[in-house]
Amino acid sequence: MKKLPLHWKIVIGMVLGILAGILFSNFNGGKQFVGDWIAPFGTIFIRLLKLIAIPLIFTSLVKGISDLKDISSFQNIGIRTIILYVSTTIAAITIGLILVNILKPGAGISPETIDELTQVYAGDASITSNIQEAGQQDSGPLTFLINIVPDNIFTAFGNNSLMLQVIFFSIIFGISMLLIDPESARPVARLINGLNEIVLKMVNLIMLIAPFAVFALLAQIVVNSDNVEILQKLLFYGATVVLGLILILCFYLIVIYLYTGKNPGWFIKGIAPAQLLAFSTSSSAATLPVTMERVTDHLGVDNEVSSFVLPVGATINMDGTSLYQAVAAVFIAQALHFPLEFSDQLSIILTALLASIGAAAVPGAGMIMLVIVLESIGFPADKLAIGLALIFAIDRPLDMCRTVINVTGDAMVSVVIAKSLGKLHEKPAE
Ligand code: ASP
Repeated sequence: MKKLPLHWKIVIGMVLGILAGILFSNFNGGKQFVGDWIAPFGTIFIRLLKLIAIPLIFTSLVKGISDLKDISSFQNIGIRTIILYVSTTIAAITIGLILVNILKPGAGISPETIDELTQVYAGDASITSNIQEAGQQDSGPLTFLINIVPDNIFTAFGNNSLMLQVIFFSIIFGISMLLIDPESARPVARLINGLNEIVLKMVNLIMLIAPFAVFALLAQIVVNSDNVEILQKLLFYGATVVLGLILILCFYLIVIYLYTGKNPGWFIKGIAPAQLLAFSTSSSAATLPVTMERVTDHLGVDNEVSSFVLPVGATINMDGTSLYQAVAAVFIAQALHFPLEFSDQLSIILTALLASIGAAAVPGAGMIMLVIVLESIGFPADKLAIGLALIFAIDRPLDMCRTVINVTGDAMVSVVIAKSLGKLHEKPAE
């Protein structure tokens, strides 16, 4: 077991977790047992990863910026990051729209299935709370800018969902370090360097339990999953989303190959453990520490680039989520015979872009923001619960898959930016 690469250990943990989940589902009280005695280990692992996320963002971002020779290199990284993130997200939404319009998965959903799904899920507490939560999103055009600026740094550090605020503070902190007398900055830089190394070591230590943790996470997902019959009815819709995600992955690999000249296998091998964790946890934020470690240490992206591109990406760049939102919105419209004009499809592009930027990097966030996409095309408010009920049963497995793409997209962009700035170092993937 010792010499086996990490991603294989994680894969083995996942497979055994699925098998254990199936086994326990067949026992009386098995679900309870998994919930009481196995699932907590998965939860502990996710908590450990989240625990490390904010210190890691702060130390590596400040280190990355204060190591720069001048601020213009930072501007260079920033502008490229935003341009690439927005364009890959628009590409993902367009792929989703083309697929769902050609394959029309919603057209095959019978009125009986709609009735059945509505009865089972429309009153579900999480659907109602999703709709409420989406309604609470402030909708002023510049609200997102206000939300990036913290008014109290301790509040920002104390809340994982305020990562963008921590990024904002770290950037100003790092830039100010560059601007003061180097003599005064030196002790702080040494301290931050030391802290950064310690935090990275903590990520390594936490990863030692990853194979066991994914076992627990997957066993829990399997015992809690909906019955197979309902999932089968949504198979065509699910397959459309997954096909779209696979196409995005191919698009990433082609970009990597054409732009960096590197073998796609090198990229996948380097990032695989982060992808597997994204799949098991459904959270880009929880996966962030591992994504950073893999991209820096195994793909050779300079810390200057990865320390900015990856945390920003985890919070705002969600190609998988935006594709899913486009497919789900059109699927719901097709199934409920809600006519869509071409202009509606254009507004899906815009709102899915904003909704994926606004979605938190946690499980199920994409579905909350889907409400906003549906509202933008004039979908009747009284039918929202029915619309969400249609896709609810299969949301978790799709969340797992789209989170993999969200994380992979961030890694791809950081490799491309590093290459463009001459900051992609030669390192073996494993
Ligand atoms: N779970 C996704 C992520 O963390 C967000 C979503 O699509 O629900 O990236």
